[in-house]
Amino acid sequence: MYESEEILRTLINASPDIICFKDGQGRWLEANQAMLKIFQLEKVDYRGKTDTELAQLTPHFCRDALLTCDLSDNLAWQTATQSRCEEVIPIPYGNSRVFDVIKVPIFDIHGGRKGLVVLGREITEHKQAEEKLLKSEALLAEAQQIAQLGYWEWDIISGEEQWSTEMFRILGLSLRINNFTYEDFEEAFHPEDRDYVLQAFEKSIHEDKPYHVKFRLICLDGKVRYVQAFGKLIRNAAGKPLRFLGTAQNITELKQVEESLRHTNEQLQLRVNELDQRSQEISLLSQMGNLLQTCLTVDEAYTVIARFMRRLFPNTIGLLAMFEDSSERLESVATWGEFFENAFDVVFAQKDCWALRQKRPYYMSDRQTHPLCNHLFSTSSTFYLCVPMIAQGELLGLLHIAQPQSNSLSEAHQRLAETIAEQVALALANLKLRQTLHNQSIRDPLTNLYNRRYLEETLEREFYQAERNHQPVGIIMVDLDHFKQFNDTFGHEAGDTVLQALGHFLNEHIRKGDIACRYGGEEFTLILPGAPLEVVQRRAESLNNRVKLLTVQHRDQNLGPITLSAGVATFPQHGTRFQEVLRAADIALLRAKKQGRDRVMVAE
Ligand code: GH3
Ligand code: MG
Ligand code: MG
Repeated sequence: MYESEEILRTLINASPDIICFKDGQGRWLEANQAMLKIFQLEKVDYRGKTDTELAQLTPHFCRDALLTCDLSDNLAWQTATQSRCEEVIPIPYGNSRVFDVIKVPIFDIHGGRKGLVVLGREITEHKQAEEKLLKSEALLAEAQQIAQLGYWEWDIISGEEQWSTEMFRILGLSLRINNFTYEDFEEAFHPEDRDYVLQAFEKSIHEDKPYHVKFRLICLDGKVRYVQAFGKLIRNAAGKPLRFLGTAQNITELKQVEESLRHTNEQLQLRVNELDQRSQEISLLSQMGNLLQTCLTVDEAYTVIARFMRRLFPNTIGLLAMFEDSSERLESVATWGEFFENAFDVVFAQKDCWALRQKRPYYMSDRQTHPLCNHLFSTSSTFYLCVPMIAQGELLGLLHIAQPQSNSLSEAHQRLAETIAEQVALALANLKLRQTLHNQSIRDPLTNLYNRRYLEETLEREFYQAERNHQPVGIIMVDLDHFKQFNDTFGHEAGDTVLQALGHFLNEHIRKGDIACRYGGEEFTLILPGAPLEVVQRRAESLNNRVKLLTVQHRDQNLGPITLSAGVATFPQHGTRFQEVLRAADIALLRAKKQGRDRVMVAE
């Protein structure tokens, strides 16, 4: 008996679990070493004492724990069955140990309390691990929430699905939905993205490769969200598919940033292109300016302008119109663009154009609200711009640019057109001035025929060319008969009128390429390049005949018929230098005078 008690004692003392027997009144009967150690009662005579009594004998830090034991003992007695609870027992230095405690009450046959078995196993480490796990789970959930990253899992074998809380949040739900399935998820796919996502999913399963897709969700809160989804089929070691794991991250903000960045980039590119174009235009403008500076005639300038307008305003049609000399009408002098290639004969009045009327640019951008100019050259153009060309305050003409397509003319292009109009107006004004000055230096102001200086320059040139080309040059010297009498009878002014009329008459009766000059006084010289003697003679005779039909009026007075004498000579027949031929014609003219005037004589 003693021996078996000894064995039992050794056995329970060897147990790392705590073991204690109490009687029906809660007095300790037996406790193992582990139990005594935890409550620091190794040196105390504990037998026959209650928890409350023992609490007086233990160190301060585990006193409360003993008292709490008393409470849970009562609970076990009351429930009358085995009860289980966790008890925390403090140990020195502020730490504590956790025990999983089982209490078994034992009753006698009359139902009286007989004894209580207390068994406790330490679960401190297990508890700590559990807490750690819970903490890391909470942390993970928090991180997922911050990253807006949700996951779902499909157990292929059981068919069960799991959806993380964040998945519901991404889908715009504040609560979890029970029995949420992949089909419900699919419902939220943006219709335009659905096929593409499903294909990626199928492909991933077929090819056994993870998928990665970005797509839109129409969420249950009505918002469209972009998600980035990854997914992967997971197999066991034998290669059997076990489950499918998917993640979805809300990347809407990222997408928005991306989108706005793309937009900014596009805008930037547009600006760069625009700048590029501006600089090209500036370069073209300066090229045009340089060329206009070196133009000798306005006609040359018109050609330059048309060429450059075609390059500066591609895909437009347009024209440059200038006032006809001392007239209210404008005529087109340069055109560009498809429509105007053959439209050189456009003539219109100043009043036909709103820009010319107001003397400022007129941009027609809407046929509904803007009146159209009367001169409208193309009926198809949706937009057009008219810019008056003004130099030194004088209205010179019009620059007209029309857009046949529905593109409007940008602000920048409107400004460009104005700059061009200014530049062109100035260049043309300069050329006109130069041309006037030149005309004045080579023309006789009374008859507007060329003067003698020009005659001599021209003869020099014509003779040189005729010699090279083995061509003849005809010269007719003309002198009015008895002109002095006109002056004497009607006055000098009437004489001037006769000279003007004859100048006009001669100009009208020569061919293009022939040149009529006033040699001096009432003497005129005609140059007929390429004409042989017979032709020259015939022409002189025709002039001699026709001049008689000329009626000259001066102040309502008829100045009577005019006759003229003419001398004819040609190169190379009558000389190789122009002075010789001129002289020969002059001698022939003298002979005509001597033989009675009103006739033509050919040089000998
Ligand atoms: P002939 O038939 O011999 O040529 O006789 P003519 O009177 O025409 O010739 P003459 O040489 O005697 O006279 C030329 C006149 O032309 C003299 C001059 O007063 C006049 N005359 C020259 N230049 C002008 C001009 O610019 N205006 C006017 N009204 N008369 C001019
Ligand atoms: Mg004379
Ligand atoms: Mg005369």
